[in-house]
Amino acid sequence: MRRRSLRLRLLVTFGLGSFILSSMFASLTYFGVQRLLVNNQQQTDLRQSYVNAALVRSTLYTSPPQLSNLLTSIQKATASIVLVQTHNQWLARSDASSTKDVSKGIIKLVNDGHPVQQTLNVNGQVIFVVGVPIPAVETQVFEVFPLANLEHTLRVLLLVLVLGALATSIIGMSGGLWVTRRAVRPLEEVSLAAALIADGALTTRLVVTQADREVQQLTESFNEMVSQLVQRLERDARFASDVSHELRSPLTTLATTASVLQQHRADLSPAGQESLDLLLADLSIFQSLVEDLLEMARSDAGAVPLVMESVEAIELLHQSVRSSARRHGLDEPVVEVDANVDDPLVRVDRRRFERVITNLLDNAHRYARGVIALRVTRTATQLFINVDDAGPGIPVDERDAVFERFFRGRAAHDRGIARGTGLGLALVRDHVRAFGGTIAVLESPEGGARFQIVLPIVEGGQE
Ligand code: ADP
Repeated sequence: MRRRSLRLRLLVTFGLGSFILSSMFASLTYFGVQRLLVNNQQQTDLRQSYVNAALVRSTLYTSPPQLSNLLTSIQKATASIVLVQTHNQWLARSDASSTKDVSKGIIKLVNDGHPVQQTLNVNGQVIFVVGVPIPAVETQVFEVFPLANLEHTLRVLLLVLVLGALATSIIGMSGGLWVTRRAVRPLEEVSLAAALIADGALTTRLVVTQADREVQQLTESFNEMVSQLVQRLERDARFASDVSHELRSPLTTLATTASVLQQHRADLSPAGQESLDLLLADLSIFQSLVEDLLEMARSDAGAVPLVMESVEAIELLHQSVRSSARRHGLDEPVVEVDANVDDPLVRVDRRRFERVITNLLDNAHRYARGVIALRVTRTATQLFINVDDAGPGIPVDERDAVFERFFRGRAAHDRGIARGTGLGLALVRDHVRAFGGTIAVLESPEGGARFQIVLPIVEGGQE
């Protein structure tokens, strides 16, 4: 239950709560009113039957033949049935069939001189029977009152109460829905904002509303927390950028010095030559590490503006492949463009796009003896650039991790030469995300690694 949606739980609580309360209220009302009405009715009927018994008695004294008329007029007036028994003989009755409604037990009690009143259920009909003994003339008068009218009233009452309970439950649930929406909406907004921030949209903030004090507090604290976080990130990025910048000039001096030594390599002892080789290899790693760090820190801190422009994707890809292959002394790989790809426009920062291609070519050269081909396909809205090699590929469990900063995978350890910085693919992912695209690792048709860049295609050159 704890994992289920809060919205659902609140709704069920409100719905169930209002249903239970309204049912309880309806039951209490029904049983209370039923008791009251039945009691009242029985009191009235009892009084009535004593009056009727007195009438029977005086008629028996004065003119017994009139008894039958009397009983008929009583039945008309009260809708009850009067039965008279004298010396154990039924004398007169307004309805012959009703004698069987009066049970033998009642008749016996009344014959013994006890007045009796009892509610009976005969064939689903509720009746109220009153027996009055008149010992002076050895007569017993029984009166049967049907409670059908009362039952009808109670049924109507029950129907009204059930409908009322249902309506109250529905109103309760609607109220619950409204309250739940109001209570859950700020949480949804916070989680949406948190997701956007986690995706890199650091300017995301919640809109502060004055409506509820608690929500306002939550919103303000959230915004404050994000601002603090962003400030800290910027501080860290500035620090990394400053450090890398400071390291750059001594490193250049070291590199120049090392290349001077390299020119006099022949004059060095074998041990000196070996040391020089190690120094040169590490210096080159150090330099690219500082360059990568500087670029990353600058883009984190927003120091290098993102210059986005709509460019013809295939043309840019050719240029980037050509220039990065030339700059790094690599063989220029083929660019295979699918027949359905004309030359769609994409929005990128040219310099960063070239950096993406350079890093991927560089990695393929280092870990997979170079790129086999760059294969380009498209859908209606997206352009796919697949950078394929025939190397060892990237194990499935490393396919996300390779984009983390300072991650070096199995391929790097296996070869043990030309160590990378572990920043190349992290930079690639940052740049591709800045273009609104994604990058993922798959397997190339040749069995090596496929780095798949997906970029949104810009409609008709819109800026
Ligand atoms: P590095 O500077 O170490 O190359 P990257 O971020 O560029 O760092 O790459 C991270 C890891 O991804 C590498 O250490 C390597 O294990 C793996 N990798 C990258 N490109 C390839 C490739 N083309 N084939 C196999 N493994 C690769």
